[in-house]
Amino acid sequence: MKPSKEKDSVMNIFISYLKRKGYRKTHERFAILDEIYSISGHFDVESLYEKMKNKKYAVSIATLYNTIELLLECGLIKKHQFGENTSRYEKSFKGGNHDHLICTACGEVVEFWNPAVKEIQEAATVSTGFEVNYHALYFYGLCPKCKSHK
Ligand SMILES: [Zn+2]
Ligand SMILES: [Zn+2]
Repeated sequence: MKPSKEKDSVMNIFISYLKRKGYRKTHERFAILDEIYSISGHFDVESLYEKMKNKKYAVSIATLYNTIELLLECGLIKKHQFGENTSRYEKSFKGGNHDHLICTACGEVVEFWNPAVKEIQEAATVSTGFEVNYHALYFYGLCPKCKSHK
């Protein structure tokens, strides 16, 4: 595992979560988290499984799903349903504050970031007294390529 500040913080969050919940700290779980945090962008469980298998990690698909559930629960990854059957995931520690545009014709997913979204979230927090942990915002339509083929 390549050392980095981000991975250290993420590992610590995961370790304290496992401790708090009384879950076992297994090598597989840490290897999966490490692998996920090496991926930039979105991934599905099948491709993550293939990737780890190619690296000779002996991780079962059941362990993958189980660990992904844990990572979702402690907020280290986000789950997306980009208008398709398979769920896709991405890391959500810092840099995860972007939203998505989804092409309903070809399935292309484009990320964008706009400070106004954070301002809306803050305004909602103030006016309702909520403590907001995350939000989901998706725009559906046609990507430039599909738009020109219409
Ligand atoms: Zn498209
Ligand atoms: Zn994304």
